[in-house]
Amino acid sequence: MDKQVFEKYSAYIDKYSELCLETFEYILHNPELGFKEFKTGDRLEREFEKLGYTLEKAGDIPGFCAVVDTGRPGPRVLVFGELDAVVCKENPLSDPETGAVHACGHCCQTSALLGIAAALKEDGALDGLSGSIKLCAVPAEELLDVSYREALREKGVIRYFGGKKEFMRRGFFDDCDLAFMIHTTSAEPFRIKTQLGANGNLIKTVTITGKAAHAGGSPHLGRNALYAATNALNAINALRERHIDGEYARVHGIITEGGQMVNAIPSEVKLDIKIRARTDEAISKLNNEVNLAFAACAAAMGCSCNISDRPGYSPVNNDENMLEAFEEIMPLCTDEDKCEKTRKIVGSCSDIGDIMSVMPAIHPYVSGAVGKGHGADYAITSPESAVLFSAKVQLVFLRALLENGAEKARRIVERADPPFKSIKEYLDYVDTLFKDKDTVVYEDDGRITLSV
Ligand SMILES: [Zn+2]
Ligand SMILES: [Zn+2]
Repeated sequence: MDKQVFEKYSAYIDKYSELCLETFEYILHNPELGFKEFKTGDRLEREFEKLGYTLEKAGDIPGFCAVVDTGRPGPRVLVFGELDAVVCKENPLSDPETGAVHACGHCCQTSALLGIAAALKEDGALDGLSGSIKLCAVPAEELLDVSYREALREKGVIRYFGGKKEFMRRGFFDDCDLAFMIHTTSAEPFRIKTQLGANGNLIKTVTITGKAAHAGGSPHLGRNALYAATNALNAINALRERHIDGEYARVHGIITEGGQMVNAIPSEVKLDIKIRARTDEAISKLNNEVNLAFAACAAAMGCSCNISDRPGYSPVNNDENMLEAFEEIMPLCTDEDKCEKTRKIVGSCSDIGDIMSVMPAIHPYVSGAVGKGHGADYAITSPESAVLFSAKVQLVFLRALLENGAEKARRIVERADPPFKSIKEYLDYVDTLFKDKDTVVYEDDGRITLSV
């Protein structure tokens, strides 16, 4: 493969640059949180259908898949564009009502996915390729807005809080063999880069219940749930000295309900807490420590403590053979000194880790943004890079995987050794992570039992 391949796919994308950039602008200015991305999803569905695609739609949640078949046998490559935004009210582009904003750059991914879809319909785009491609506009990558997702779960609409895992449950990826997506990065100067891995996570809602009483007249009759919560947060901070280097342990959270009125001892406090670490074992160990801190601090204040653990995302482990295949095409797309090939591990998470649990997949990055991810100063400064260039790179990579009888894709699939052998086996494991528990039991004889 040589640089002419990049020129060929560049021309296809350049032909649709207006479509991609208009769609990018629309999504950027209509940010929606996970499982609420109906406007974004609808817009993309319309554009895909105009291109002649028949879509496999999720229906009761946003998102869809479209298949491009070369007509020749071979593996199926899954390509993602994520639909959702994050919350950061201080970001100037945030929605004034919801605070939602594309401060993780997902608006670039979905616009690039549209460009890829358009390019693959062009004459000659599939020449010499074997196998097939599944393009997936997937909801809810960011793990947030927990009470909304729990309500969806209780209604039976979703079972999992991440869009990719929910799509797995719905059978969307049963026919896929390997996967990739490119995420936007605010790393400067311009570069295209790889990394090896990232954390997995688990999310929990903690409800501490005390007793309300007049805060001035009779505070001694109350049981202060807010103080129990702050004591627990302090205990969790003190536990950080037990974190082991290399586990990339992170615990962070927010108080979502802190009491009903200033005149009373707070009787109910709720927190959303996220646990992140590099392996499932480390997540589980950290999770037990955190649960015990909540239970013990609630007991110390005479409160009760209910904990609802929900599975988050599995650790991100890029497939090394697929990374190498991607790194081979990077210098065909840009100058060698702009290609950063790393095996770094980072503390963030993505539900691409769920996909990596069952098939070879990679999650590289392309520049085009500035500022802090999820922050007030994050902005997409170069959609030409984050949308158009990214789409071109992805097309060149698809070519590398699927040319010559899909030789490279086949080899990657043969050599891959994901931790779970099937989606069913994986989801059976994930289901063991759900937990709803009253962690403090007051016995009749005065003893207190902590159970996490
Ligand atoms: Zn993000
Ligand atoms: Zn992101």
